[in-house]
Amino acid sequence: MLALLKSNFGFDHFLPQQEEIITRVLARGDTLVLMPTGGGKSLCYQMPALRFEGLTVVVSPLIALMKDQVDGLKSNGIPAAFINSTLPASEINRVRARALEGSLKILYLAPERLAIPGFREFLGSLDISLFAIDEAHCISEWGHDFRPDYRNLKTLRHDFPNVPVIALTATATMEVRQDIVTQLGLRLPETFISSFNRANLSYVVQPKRDSFDELLKLLKKHGPCSVIIYRISRKDTEALAEDLSDRGFKALPYHAGLERSTRNDTQEKFIHDEVPIVVATIAFGMGIDKPDVRLVVHFDLPKSLEGYYQETGRAGRDGLPSECVLFYSYGDKIRQDYFIERIEGRTERDSARLKLAQMVEFAELQTCRRKHLLEYFGEKWEEESCGGCDVCLEQREEYDATEISQKILSAVIRTGERFGASHIAGVLRGAATKQIRKWEHDRLTVYGIARDLSVDELTQSMNALLGKGLLEKDAGQFPTLFVTHAGNAFLRNREQLTLTRPIRSPDRSMGDTSTPVADNLTGDPDLFQKLRVLRKRIADERGVPPYLIFGDASLRQMASYLPQTEESFLRISGVGRVKLDEFSEPFLALISDHATTNGLVGKEAPRGRRERNGNARRGGATREETKRLARQKLPLGDIAQARGLAESTIVYHLEQLVMAGEELDLGYLMPPAERLAKIEKAFHETEGLLLAPVRELLGRDYSYLELNLARIGLRLKGTAAGERPAESAGR
Ligand code: ADP
Ligand code: ZN
Repeated sequence: MLALLKSNFGFDHFLPQQEEIITRVLARGDTLVLMPTGGGKSLCYQMPALRFEGLTVVVSPLIALMKDQVDGLKSNGIPAAFINSTLPASEINRVRARALEGSLKILYLAPERLAIPGFREFLGSLDISLFAIDEAHCISEWGHDFRPDYRNLKTLRHDFPNVPVIALTATATMEVRQDIVTQLGLRLPETFISSFNRANLSYVVQPKRDSFDELLKLLKKHGPCSVIIYRISRKDTEALAEDLSDRGFKALPYHAGLERSTRNDTQEKFIHDEVPIVVATIAFGMGIDKPDVRLVVHFDLPKSLEGYYQETGRAGRDGLPSECVLFYSYGDKIRQDYFIERIEGRTERDSARLKLAQMVEFAELQTCRRKHLLEYFGEKWEEESCGGCDVCLEQREEYDATEISQKILSAVIRTGERFGASHIAGVLRGAATKQIRKWEHDRLTVYGIARDLSVDELTQSMNALLGKGLLEKDAGQFPTLFVTHAGNAFLRNREQLTLTRPIRSPDRSMGDTSTPVADNLTGDPDLFQKLRVLRKRIADERGVPPYLIFGDASLRQMASYLPQTEESFLRISGVGRVKLDEFSEPFLALISDHATTNGLVGKEAPRGRRERNGNARRGGATREETKRLARQKLPLGDIAQARGLAESTIVYHLEQLVMAGEELDLGYLMPPAERLAKIEKAFHETEGLLLAPVRELLGRDYSYLELNLARIGLRLKGTAAGERPAESAGR
């Protein structure tokens, strides 16, 4: 199983429970899986699907995600397809034919299919090994997301009495759980319940003060990465997105009041890493499966803890450390009270009030936030400190503050008790500000006597002295500091002083250490950025989301271990058989180049297994195979099917072949003449050979695949405007 896991998915070990669940499914028993978002549910049916003789049918309500899921499987060389309302009838027929002839391992279906006349008969004629019901809570009216279409699934057990069923959900209340079992008619199901703790997420609540500046700080701290910012009102999402854009951050608003096409566009830009920040109402998220969201901000107070948990849950699905920040002010609560009082039904009003009160309680908590969250959902949490919420992280330690306190108090006195905290800090640190020179404070004996401390540390100590009553602040527009009687006595009597400060330990690991969170590696940041750029370029060339090429976890490992041979590349988590073939060349070239330029040497990734790469094929060999099939003039879909690869991959091969000077007659793959002419014109207009600008020009009606084929045509003709072959080869 581990060998299969590595070669087909690129992973070196299972996440908690995955192995037990897969073993159970392989034994053909019914199974119920309750696992939080990011827990790795998909693998629980995808892996058995590979082992079973027949077809695994996956039912999912998230139509928008099916294509990506299927592309993800194909990019690992697993033959998969989907049927839903977004496909034209001709394509549906093709998929049905493939399912009938047994060349598919996994078929995704939208639930409404089962109600279409004839479809159940079609299913009946297939050799089905397993049904996987994703988002299984949708079958229950108790759940928050009931879908009437899911009621169609009740007939499955009757129609297929001998096919095992695995039901999966991230919703775990008792009623819903029971309902799933009854409705699906699961027989003696074994139930697997994972902890709902998201160990890689940290939870922070910040006072909502200078919130825009605080937000900018947060965004700067996180650097380039995907961010979701939630706001309550539609208008506010637009205003904030605009403010952020004014400050040079690429941000778009998202709410249910926007045109459908605008919403789709924003979603696509987010998924393809075109726009890193989306400012949204809670309408955004369902159906967003982006694994590398590093920061979720609640700019306003959410209406309930359930909502908060669900929305923060969209961070860090890939298991890498990610942050959830809530800006809280009591004013927000009062604003929401106003709306709650206007709710019609009394029960609804009371319920909204209660939920808001629970949210406020969470925001004002002085104890571990993770513990509170998990216990709210009925889970026990025994740890003393979670190490991943602001309350736990701010655990304080005592330190001897005698000397620093003497320095601060002296500086306040010597400067005449007429200045504020930042001026005092400047004097102590020996800063050369205009103010300091103007007042000749650089001549004082206290000038520069605390150069080794940061402004933050000094400010913290001053706050502590204020708290102890040794210092006091003058009220007024410019609050100045003065020394109290107690402060003077402290200096005079040479007293000792112990203060506390937040414990700072730079390498604190997050959360429950028994959970194998993906490596907390960061690696060489420059190289990581370069790898991201390469990933993005390859993804654009293929018209797929970057995370389908490699996840952040894989890139971080690359940036840490600097693999420079195929053997060491295969040790990177996320690199399986097919991805090795497809991507090792451009990635290894980039890494070697970076290593040489900077005089770095690689380290071996620790847990890979050497013995599995004996049959690693070279990129060249796989392209030869594509060439052979293209010479036979097979349709694109057939080549992809024969090779068990995505169509975009085949097109990429063809382009590489053409650029290497192969003489191929690909006229039969070109778009119809009229469309081709439009596309060629667009390439000329954009004065280049990049796909994204052309797509921008022509709109969503033209697929990346089609554009890419046309570009190959241009390359073959050698007539492209100012052709520079290396520019967009994706390598
Ligand atoms: P869920 O459906 O439970 O939210 P997914 O199946 O989407 O979770 O998996 C979440 C993330 O974890 C994905 O990025 C997936 O590639 C990754 N993942 C799944 N199984 C493993 C594993 N065994 N090792 C490493 N990463 C894994
Ligand atoms: Zn905590």
